[in-house]
Amino acid sequence: MPSSVKPFLTGLCAMATFPFAALAHDDPTHDAQLDRIASFFSAADIRSGPERVDCTLSEGEKTACFKITVAASPLTYTPGPWCPTHITDGADAGGIWFLDGKTVDVTGAFLAQLAEVYGDTKWQLYDPDTGAIRYTGTLEECQAAARPDVDPAYQNYCVQCLPETLPQEAVVTYVIPLDPVAATRPAPTNISGSGVAYNGVRLDGPAPVDAILGAYTIAPFDDCGGHVNPHVGYHYHAVTDCLDAAPTAPDAGDHGAQIGIAMDGFAILPHLMADGTAPADLDQCKGHVGQDGSYHYHVGEAGSNAILGCLTAQAGCTLEDADGSCDASVRRPRH
Ligand SMILES: [Zn+2]
Ligand SMILES: [Zn+2]
Repeated sequence: MPSSVKPFLTGLCAMATFPFAALAHDDPTHDAQLDRIASFFSAADIRSGPERVDCTLSEGEKTACFKITVAASPLTYTPGPWCPTHITDGADAGGIWFLDGKTVDVTGAFLAQLAEVYGDTKWQLYDPDTGAIRYTGTLEECQAAARPDVDPAYQNYCVQCLPETLPQEAVVTYVIPLDPVAATRPAPTNISGSGVAYNGVRLDGPAPVDAILGAYTIAPFDDCGGHVNPHVGYHYHAVTDCLDAAPTAPDAGDHGAQIGIAMDGFAILPHLMADGTAPADLDQCKGHVGQDGSYHYHVGEAGSNAILGCLTAQAGCTLEDADGSCDASVRRPRH
């Protein structure tokens, strides 16, 4: 954490002064903060919380967090599609993929061109006789293919996990500091994820694109930048215009409306300023201190595979068990 940022680490209160303005900084019960957090997530499918809990952050700081349990799917749209099924399918039949820092439409034609796109003749995702694309359609296929060590039987597949095949609805619990606590160094987002969007969907760390491509698979995101895995359900690896119109986030003037809350408690704002210009002087985590003195992040470009560059302050926890407690200083293996 750059020391210049530290004076601005006055917490979710500071984050909240960003969009929420004029808060009671001395509220020992954090009740006002919890109310604002509940309001921020009012478009999410909340299952419990937000409530105040004790937590241990990523560098061992014991502090107060909010805990909220949400269904991992948006209420306002149906996720998908991801994989086209035939090489003649257009963009409406598929999602998007990252290529050279940009997003590309996963059309049938794109999946038919992968040998040229990646300069490797081993790519062959479709049946050359029929034009049918190989894709994962069942839970078993998704479990075998959507993991770091892709089952070799699923090389040359378009990989997707269809939400309707999951044995149970994915519900995720977030434990995030009410007041951000300085870290000795920025942390990557591939441990805890980046944060959570106002609609309750996880803003994840980078997708493991090299491992996916190394297995001759493509694991598309839908046009909203999300896809499904069997553990945490639907989650984003990119922020697209789907998250533009936060129904409940107070408008922050030249910054547009807040998109989410990072795992360290800071606010997450759109990639560009409301007037379409790029925010100035972003640090390596894609954060900076705004004119009002509060530190916040701006999400990366949709094709960058980095919703945040890193986490500036100490991270809380993402839990699969709603009754679990958060000790983020214990590094868990990630799925
Ligand atoms: Zn993913
Ligand atoms: Zn800004």
